[in-house]
Amino acid sequence: MILRCIECGREYPINEVRYRCDCGDLLEVVHDIERLKKRVSCRLFDERLAKREFPYNSGVWRYKELILDIENKFIISRPEGNTNLYQSDKVGEYVGIEDIWLKHEGENPTASFKDRGMSCAISVAKMLGFKKVACASTGNTSASMASYADLAGMESIVFIPEEKIAFGKLAQALAYGAKTIQIKGDFDDAMKLVQKVCQEFRVYLLNSINPFRIEGQKAICFEVLQQLDWQVPDWFILPGGNLGNNTALSKGLRELYQIGMINRIPRMAVIQAQGANPLYTMWKERTPFEAVKAETIATAVKIGNPVSWKKSIRGIEWSRGVVEQVTDQEIMDAKAFVDASGIGAEPASCCSIAGARKLTKAGIIDKKERVVAILTGNLLKDPDAVVNYHLDRLKGIKSTYANKPIMIESSLKAVRKVLE
Ligand SMILES: *Cc1c(COP(=O)(O)O)cnc(C)c1O
Repeated sequence: MILRCIECGREYPINEVRYRCDCGDLLEVVHDIERLKKRVSCRLFDERLAKREFPYNSGVWRYKELILDIENKFIISRPEGNTNLYQSDKVGEYVGIEDIWLKHEGENPTASFKDRGMSCAISVAKMLGFKKVACASTGNTSASMASYADLAGMESIVFIPEEKIAFGKLAQALAYGAKTIQIKGDFDDAMKLVQKVCQEFRVYLLNSINPFRIEGQKAICFEVLQQLDWQVPDWFILPGGNLGNNTALSKGLRELYQIGMINRIPRMAVIQAQGANPLYTMWKERTPFEAVKAETIATAVKIGNPVSWKKSIRGIEWSRGVVEQVTDQEIMDAKAFVDASGIGAEPASCCSIAGARKLTKAGIIDKKERVVAILTGNLLKDPDAVVNYHLDRLKGIKSTYANKPIMIESSLKAVRKVLE
């Protein structure tokens, strides 16, 4: 394993503390594929699935050789992963695809997929001897980091944007004891600041610019494939914010393909909120990447200057993937269906479902194809968005599928009227 610059190819040892190449571009972990061919197989991972022993009881570290082959004593695990893969007729009908599967990453320990990458990157922090960790966050990264830092006995510092972040996420950061610093500015400003902070002080940066975050998040697609008995779906579809997660999925799939564990490449569909769509614009218009000022109800993807855009677009091209955008209205309507199916997810997650519907209507995804949609975060992360939708109080959004509470007299007669 080494760190390699995605642009100039310069290499650095795995235990060197750095987030960028000297040329300024991003780094990625490069595994020894020939060695992995001899060491891993579907059978090995299936055998581990039956075990309860640390660290293979984790849905990340079960695939340890493919993620990060470090000594077990450094591993900080809750354990994460092992999330359900659902089927829902209700969502399937809404999207227009029968064979759609919902991978619920909101079922992770701190209720978002961030736990997978966090487990991996904080284990590296421990290996490197750090006592303090930091991130910029729209909420879920800070919730995850704060929890894992507690487990590791480290201090955590989170930088959050000035505007309101979702209540559930703020609650978690405060509860887990993170030093929570709200800055005057948006997420993109916070992201710039935290990179400077981690250059200046001995604090380890845990945003997805950190290449080990990406390694941990690859486990989402490993776990999905294992749940599907290693049958490769036609599509993976997921929201895009800072663009770490789709980068991770295509990297994981590429490595499985190179190792020979899969013989077909699923296509990646990345869905952005229309108000935070720099990757979509770049992909659609074939223009150079240009940051935007982000605005969307889906706060987890309210990011105008995504750090991993270059890695992301390369992964999408490799998988013959697509990028789509959806409006806040489409997000909230899709969310109403995901929620009412009994599964539930936070707004950003429902980009996956709104996007799947749009791409199916456009004929880009065929009705007969097998689609895996990633639900990135839990329903309870953003209770304001839910309640305000059902009370028809969201500015600029129609509550098409509202389930309004009913006020009545406290009498059987009044109840009868409502039930009949
Ligand atoms: C972080 C996050 C995203 C965006 O993922 P990126 O890797 O930043 O593209 C989407 N949904 C939820 C719930 C998240 O927490």
